[in-house]
Amino acid sequence: MKILKKEIYWPTALFLTALPLITVLLVPVYIYSHGLPIGILIFSVVFAFLTNLSITAGYHRLFSHRSYEAHSIAKALFLLIGASAWQGSALKWSSDHRRHHSKVDSDEDPYSITKGFWYAHMGWLFYKESVNQTISAPDLKKDPLVDYQDRYYYLIAILMSFGFPTLVGYWMDVPLAGFLFGGCLRVVLTQQSTFLVNSLTHTLGKQTYSDKVSARDSLLVAFLTHGEGYHNFHHTFQIDYRNGIRWYQWDPTKWTIRLLWLAGLAKKLRKIPDTEILKARLQMESMKIRAKGYSDDKVEHLKENIISAQLKYKKLKADYTLVKNQFQDRSQIQIDLFKIEIEKAKFEFQLGLKEWKLILNT
Ligand SMILES: [Zn+2]
Ligand SMILES: [Zn+2]
Repeated sequence: MKILKKEIYWPTALFLTALPLITVLLVPVYIYSHGLPIGILIFSVVFAFLTNLSITAGYHRLFSHRSYEAHSIAKALFLLIGASAWQGSALKWSSDHRRHHSKVDSDEDPYSITKGFWYAHMGWLFYKESVNQTISAPDLKKDPLVDYQDRYYYLIAILMSFGFPTLVGYWMDVPLAGFLFGGCLRVVLTQQSTFLVNSLTHTLGKQTYSDKVSARDSLLVAFLTHGEGYHNFHHTFQIDYRNGIRWYQWDPTKWTIRLLWLAGLAKKLRKIPDTEILKARLQMESMKIRAKGYSDDKVEHLKENIISAQLKYKKLKADYTLVKNQFQDRSQIQIDLFKIEIEKAKFEFQLGLKEWKLILNT
């Protein structure tokens, strides 16, 4: 009830209320009177995808967490398209987000889930107190591109979010459809996708790596948020450029960053060592195993075995890569022996994990 007494921040409150209303009213009227504008719809889907990526790969993983370094071209694109999402400047967004991580689940967390699902989703944007928190990101303020976007944010946002799609619509002879689908509808949907990260990923899913924070891992949410759904991993290891660490986990943001790296537009992609990740996961799972009646000694023994087996396997693999070239002068038998050692270490590691999983799931 305390929330109701807070002072409303009218600019965002009106924008966040009026835009969905206008969209919900005008989009069906347009389709009824003009039919489905296929060309502009395709453009709007692509633009929406890029808008979300500019927020997840740009605002979030690049500017807020510095999980990799990007070329100015990539930065400029993230800042231009990111502004079209109407989520504030990258400087403001990142400052709020860093506070979310450092003060998570407390009163100082700008979108704390402890104040309710709706508040964390978008309710916080309705109040002066939570919207107008001091901007504190001195490293980003020093970046001329980020600073420029912050100073001219509203002009860039208007031109990119509504001007650009209207222009594309005009070129396709459907300017109003450009404004409605590429502008209004896209902004509403991409905003909701981002808001889900603050609400749904702090509510739904597994606490795979830590139970110290409310953040959770969920495939469903990952699908809805360009891979941001592995949020328990992210809160535990926030400097990692990946959120879904397995190759098959749905994380288009991670794939985009890898593509940028391949194109020479990103470098220094930061990754948490596998052993650290494994340790955190086994620590969480060990609590469940202990609850099944296994002794602390037994659980610790199993855990240590798995971790040292993984270390041995990783070290052998790294050694093999290092001295691979020297093998050219050696006999085939030496190469085969090295490979057998690696396979043996891999087998021991996997065997340990299998035993662990069996205990965990029975
Ligand atoms: Zn984050
Ligand atoms: Zn979070």
